[in-house]
Amino acid sequence: MIEVTRYSDKTVAVFGLAGSGLASARALAAGGAKVVAFDDSAERVAAATEAGIATGDLHDLDFHGVDALLLSPGVPLTHPKPHWSAERAHAAGVPIVGDVGLFDEERRARLPGLALVAITGTNGKSTTTALLGHLLTVLGDAAQVGGNIGRPVLDLDPVPGVAVVECSSYQIDLATTLAPDVGALLNLSPDHIDRHGTYENYAAIKERLVAASDAVVIGVDDADTAAVADRMERAGKTVLRIGTFDSVDAIALGRSGVGAVGETLYRVTDGVAREIASLAGIGSLRGRHNAQNASAAVALAIALGHTAEDAVRGLATFPGLVHRMEEVGRADAVLFVNDSKATNAQSTRQALASFEDVYWIAGGVPKAGGITELADLFGRVKRAYLIGEAAQAFAKTLTGRVNFVLSGTLEAALDAAASDAEAAGSGVVLLSPACASFDQFRSFEARGDRFRTLVGERLHSGENA
Ligand code: ADP
Repeated sequence: MIEVTRYSDKTVAVFGLAGSGLASARALAAGGAKVVAFDDSAERVAAATEAGIATGDLHDLDFHGVDALLLSPGVPLTHPKPHWSAERAHAAGVPIVGDVGLFDEERRARLPGLALVAITGTNGKSTTTALLGHLLTVLGDAAQVGGNIGRPVLDLDPVPGVAVVECSSYQIDLATTLAPDVGALLNLSPDHIDRHGTYENYAAIKERLVAASDAVVIGVDDADTAAVADRMERAGKTVLRIGTFDSVDAIALGRSGVGAVGETLYRVTDGVAREIASLAGIGSLRGRHNAQNASAAVALAIALGHTAEDAVRGLATFPGLVHRMEEVGRADAVLFVNDSKATNAQSTRQALASFEDVYWIAGGVPKAGGITELADLFGRVKRAYLIGEAAQAFAKTLTGRVNFVLSGTLEAALDAAASDAEAAGSGVVLLSPACASFDQFRSFEARGDRFRTLVGERLHSGENA
């Protein structure tokens, strides 16, 4: 744990006790703060009290005697409207802080041997963060991974090394004093507008992370982040650009960066590209989106002082993240892939673009637009198996273009898809729903876990037959 000492003997109100809020309350208390922790859920308050955290109803607290309000990133700071606790803090002139900011202040004040790499972007944050952690570990660095992925940042160990921290826009919004050693902005597209008001505001919050970093890695595959890269260079920062390109001649990374052409990675120095690695055959890094993520992770390792040749050493052994194009089984030439994290069409696009001969399980609670924007990839689909609330609407989109069945449940869909693929002798049975899960499952994780279990049972019973 990183003890937060700057509020020693001061009073800190903590709102939001789901995950990182609990870690924050503990870190503040360990550093000597008087903590009053609360949540809108009585169950969470009870669980926190049980865990030894000082709780109290913030409705009853006089905020004029409070030195800071720590908000969990999931709690609205500004939009759709400020949470009541944020309004109380504003009215009393109390600063609002978040866990990533406290971590960074503490690190700079007391732990100079702990470098901070902060990673943000609309997509690929978790993959890039986990991959960089892996690449550094392979190179023998003391790397710790946390933040929006896995361990709350204040749960990391106060030891020398590198903290590789995934930052959501919510966390950056709360971290006004953030100053990472290295920052990465992977890509930008409209997301979380409900929480930030406008796309411009969302993009500005993400840009703040790299603007505050000493060295920066920035994706140039979209125009908005490419413009950020130019601004950072004009501001005098060390910029490594990353991206994916159609040919070596088309690599446009300026003086320094890491780019991918298909499955080949290139290091660009002084404007000259040289091949450094191939992603071919690395199941955890399939697809153009993962070539972007791999370029970013390698560039970050370079920014930390490694050579390009060293940086790529761990690529082939990256285990990948669960629920993101995760291989969960293989029966002869039939591959089973769990992409339950794909809760919108944009994410499913990455998976469909990565495979041929797809037996596609899709559906759940649809997002606006459904799967119409995926029409250019329908040629890769042998047959679709539709589940959940979206089934009828998706059927309408697919009619006349893709063979489909209305399976209803994940169980029926897997059964039919696996039988079809096995009969064909090859193909990919892909769960990439392009939908939220909560009509039939607690979470996308529960949906993916169920799929993995069902595949396991099926393959296992096949072995015994
Ligand atoms: P995040 O942490 O930003 O949500 P993840 O690494 O967890 O991103 O990936 C989530 C999903 O987003 C993946 O399953 C994939 O469909 C898609 N994705 C991953 N990386 C990228 C990328 N660089 N560009 C676009 N989409 C991506």
